[in-house]
Amino acid sequence: MIEIYCFCPWIDSDTSQTHTFAMEIVYVYHSGIAVRLSRCDLLFDYWEDSVDANHGFVHDCLLNESRPLYVFSSHFHADHFTTDIFSFTDRRENVRYLLSKDIKKRRGNRLKGLSCPLIFLKKAERYEDEFISVLACGSTDSGISFLIRAEGKTIFHAGDLNNWQWHFEELSDLERRNSQMAKNFESELLFIKEHAATVDVAAFPVDPRLGTEEDIFRGPRQFLDSVQVRTLCPIHFCSRTEILEPLKSLCQTKECRLLLPLARGQIFTL
Ligand SMILES: [Zn+2]
Repeated sequence: MIEIYCFCPWIDSDTSQTHTFAMEIVYVYHSGIAVRLSRCDLLFDYWEDSVDANHGFVHDCLLNESRPLYVFSSHFHADHFTTDIFSFTDRRENVRYLLSKDIKKRRGNRLKGLSCPLIFLKKAERYEDEFISVLACGSTDSGISFLIRAEGKTIFHAGDLNNWQWHFEELSDLERRNSQMAKNFESELLFIKEHAATVDVAAFPVDPRLGTEEDIFRGPRQFLDSVQVRTLCPIHFCSRTEILEPLKSLCQTKECRLLLPLARGQIFTL
């Protein structure tokens, strides 16, 4: 445990109060979460702030800090990446961007003229500095997922990694697609497991658009079967918090702490 002073009005209006915690997880919106450590902050897949595009936890709290802020974007999709993140350097020093390489390829025209240094990663590539160590893991959709070690903690953000078993009739060759998806997902899980048998905090998609409970929870269940996760933060649930209920028993059997309910801007102290 560490002791820090909390200056953030979103956490406590009394700025003189001392808080003791090891780590804070802030659910921003959709797949966007912030992990607050004692020496730096991590922000994943920011798309929109916790109140609206320009208001909420990120603008009113995180950008007022001075310690390093690492901004991670797992892929170019509009619900995981926005060029708004590059304006963070107007408000705060020490912002470091770690982006999936597909963003350079698919959104390169929107990155022209930026003066801030950008670090691009593809699967199996690493980044390391005095605060964090990052391994880019794979995805079964676009881009990458992130495995991070910092301050003795292991943090995983899945991006769009999931076992996406779609059943839309309009999709051709469904059976072959879904079977290939299952194989790809297992292979990505193996890669993650090889590098981290235990993860302190994992953010993983639980997507109601998959339809049945079996399909929605197939990927999260397989993930929890493969990797020992101490705390799970569901993401990508399209604001449908009511569909997350079955996660309770799933996490209980795995002795994994579940972060629920997830309201925009909600802060969890671990
Ligand atoms: Zn997505």
